[in-house]
Amino acid sequence: MFDKTAFAGHESVHHVFDAKTGLRAIIAIHSTVRGPAAGGCRMWNYATADDAFVDALRLSEGMSYKNAMADLPLGGGKSVIWGNSKTDKTPDLFRALGRAIESLNGAYWSAEDVGVSVQDMAFAAEETKYVSGLSTGRAASGDPSPVTAKGVFLGLKAAALRAFGTDDLNGRHIAVQGVGHVGGFLCGHLANAGAKLTITDVNAEALEAVARATGARIVAPNAIYDVEADIFSPNALGAILNPDTLSRLRVKVVAGGANNQLATPDMGDRLHEQGVLYAPDYVINGGGIINVAAEISGAYDPAWVEAKVQRLVLTLGDVLDRAKSEGRATNRVADEMARKRISG
Ligand code: NAD
Repeated sequence: MFDKTAFAGHESVHHVFDAKTGLRAIIAIHSTVRGPAAGGCRMWNYATADDAFVDALRLSEGMSYKNAMADLPLGGGKSVIWGNSKTDKTPDLFRALGRAIESLNGAYWSAEDVGVSVQDMAFAAEETKYVSGLSTGRAASGDPSPVTAKGVFLGLKAAALRAFGTDDLNGRHIAVQGVGHVGGFLCGHLANAGAKLTITDVNAEALEAVARATGARIVAPNAIYDVEADIFSPNALGAILNPDTLSRLRVKVVAGGANNQLATPDMGDRLHEQGVLYAPDYVINGGGIINVAAEISGAYDPAWVEAKVQRLVLTLGDVLDRAKSEGRATNRVADEMARKRISG
């Protein structure tokens, strides 16, 4: 662990093997300075065990940053299961994961992530109380997407205010990539605010439903980067801000809910040089983890969630303002602020 480039002062990493179910999992705890480490469980068919290890290190560090910027009493952690989420899942596999989580005595809280469903985590929850994002139970918070989308909408307005001098979206042209859970709710907010939408997705059914509801124009997935618009809002995939797409973007703002939008941190520098205002993804999309944190606290309170989301938008504004006054890329400023918040 200490020799890995992805090692960033992680407190511990737990490698789990369960002979009966074949579970091979890694639970990485980056930081518990602010509170118990929280972050979802990803199931992925990694090429090698080393890839799984590095992903767990990288993702858990990212959760420390996200939780800190959302001002939550939570540290950063992540678990990964090495396996094929389509063919290798069994209830017992997740029960074994639950026992591993329980053995950490609350140092790590899990939830769903890529490849893992609410139902899978419900099996884990049979063995541990340190699971959130459930659909039943005393403080169940359910689908976090509406809260994420609300935070992205307010964050996008905060970025618009800085880029255009007004946060009025009436008549603003916004290109939206991905109209799934987050993107779908987001398009509703944007259309209600009078924005003109161009949307794309690989799911034709979802696209048509959102187009019908919002009057959006539809373009092919790869054409979204070439749309001349005020704002580009990525809500589907990671690494979509890369050398190829950056040379094509014709917008003034990038603000969307997708995780890990920058292929590499220096893409943030390039956006800055191109005069594009980028709302750092792990700040603007923190609504989802705020919703989960409300569940972890043991008593889901919508007013607390709303207040935290409002606070998140102010934090995003601070990041954008500091980046402007210091002439630096917004992602660099956000990383620096996050590191300060977890420095203990
Ligand atoms: P989702 O699966 O519901 O939606 C993603 C959408 O992207 C789908 O409709 C999918 O068809 C579409 N898509 C896939 N490939 C595409 C492509 N090449 N071009 C265009 N569209 C494509 O997922 P979601 O929950 O809405 O999450 C969207 C993003 O937001 C992800 O990056 C996720 O990690 C991030 N995020 C989600 C939440 C949340 O609360 N759900 C919170 C924080 C971050």
